[in-house]
Amino acid sequence: MSIAQITRIYLASGNAHKVAEMGALATRDGLGVEIVSAKVLGGMPAVEEDTGTFLGNARKKALALWAIAPAGSVVLADDSGVCVDHLDGGPGVESAYFAGPQGDAAANLKKLVEVMRGVPGDRRGAKFYCLLLLIDEAGGEHVFDGACVGTLLDEPRGGAGFGYDPVFVPEGYAQSYAELGDEVKARLSHRAKAWAALSAWWRGRNAAGAIT
Ligand code: IMP
Repeated sequence: MSIAQITRIYLASGNAHKVAEMGALATRDGLGVEIVSAKVLGGMPAVEEDTGTFLGNARKKALALWAIAPAGSVVLADDSGVCVDHLDGGPGVESAYFAGPQGDAAANLKKLVEVMRGVPGDRRGAKFYCLLLLIDEAGGEHVFDGACVGTLLDEPRGGAGFGYDPVFVPEGYAQSYAELGDEVKARLSHRAKAWAALSAWWRGRNAAGAIT
C-alpha cells in the first residue's frame, strides 16, 4: 500500500478568505496538495502592490513569500479584482485599495455602491478576474487566470464571501455571490476558473512524473 504524498502550497496572501476558498478548491479536486497560509511562515511579508498589473503584483507577492519559505517550496500568489465596465475596467488591479491605501474592504464596497448609484442597468456590467502565479520547487514560474462576468447590484445583498461579493451577480443568476454562498461561488468564480487551469497543469506534470 502506498501513502500518497501531499505537497504543501504556501499561499502568498494575508487574506483569510482567499486561503479558505483556495483550500476548499484544492480539497474538492483531490489534487494531493494542501494550501497553507503564509501565517505558518510568520505571516505574509509586506509587499507594495504597485506594478499596475495583476501579473506584476502576483509575482511580487509570490517572490516575497518564496524568499522566506523553506528551500524547494511551492508558493502560490493570487492577484484579483473587480473590473467594472462603467469605470473603464476599474478598480481592477487596484480593487483592494479603491477607497484608500488602508485597504478597508467595507469602505471599498461602500465606494463602489456610491460610484455606481444611478448608473442604468445596461451599464452595470462587471467581471471578476483572478491571476494565479505559482513558483514550483525548482523556482519555475507558472501563470493561470480566470474570469467571471456579471452585473453590479444597486445595494449589497447577502452575508457570505468577502470584498465585493455582496454587489456582484454572476451571469445566469439573480443573486449576488454573497447570497449564493461558497459552494456555488466555488463552481463559477474567477478564482475557481483560474484554479481549474492550475489543477489541470498540476495533474499533467504529476502524470509526466516531472517537476518543470
Ligand atoms: P489583491 O489580490 O490582494 O490585490 O486584492 C484583491 C481585491 O479584489 C480584494 O481585496 C477584494 O476587494 C477584491 N476581490 C478579489 N477577489 C474577490 C472575490 O472573490 N470576491 C470579492 N472581492 C474580491
